[in-house]
Amino acid sequence: MTQTMTHTMTQTPTHRPKDIAVDRTAGEVRITWADGHVSAYSLRWLRANCPCASCREERREAVLRTESLSLSALPPPSAEIAGAELAGNYAVRFEWADGHASGIYTFAALRACCPCEQCNPNGPPPLLDD
Ligand SMILES: [Zn+2]
Ligand SMILES: [Zn+2]
Repeated sequence: MTQTMTHTMTQTPTHRPKDIAVDRTAGEVRITWADGHVSAYSLRWLRANCPCASCREERREAVLRTESLSLSALPPPSAEIAGAELAGNYAVRFEWADGHASGIYTFAALRACCPCEQCNPNGPPPLLDD
């Protein structure tokens, strides 16, 4: 019954989740951290902050595009989650209903963006690009 885990990352235990729960009904992902803190991220926010290279590029272009509404006919990206899996021991990868699954959300960045009153009273900052 003993499982050996190798910990090569040098991160504080605070940034380790004890539990990750996807609540499709509430439309959120709840992470319970090693220190007992619970963060609830809305799926919409997670998708809007997808840290993959192509989404980051899209967001940059969207900022430049705000002046002209000619290209706003594109449907918004899906905020419906299809699955979640751990990426190594430092991140989680979400797969969305439209098949997009290249965003790796590091625990450190997620914890920094915890949307609760205590962590970010003015609302969560954008997910950090690494
Ligand atoms: Zn993406
Ligand atoms: Zn918090």
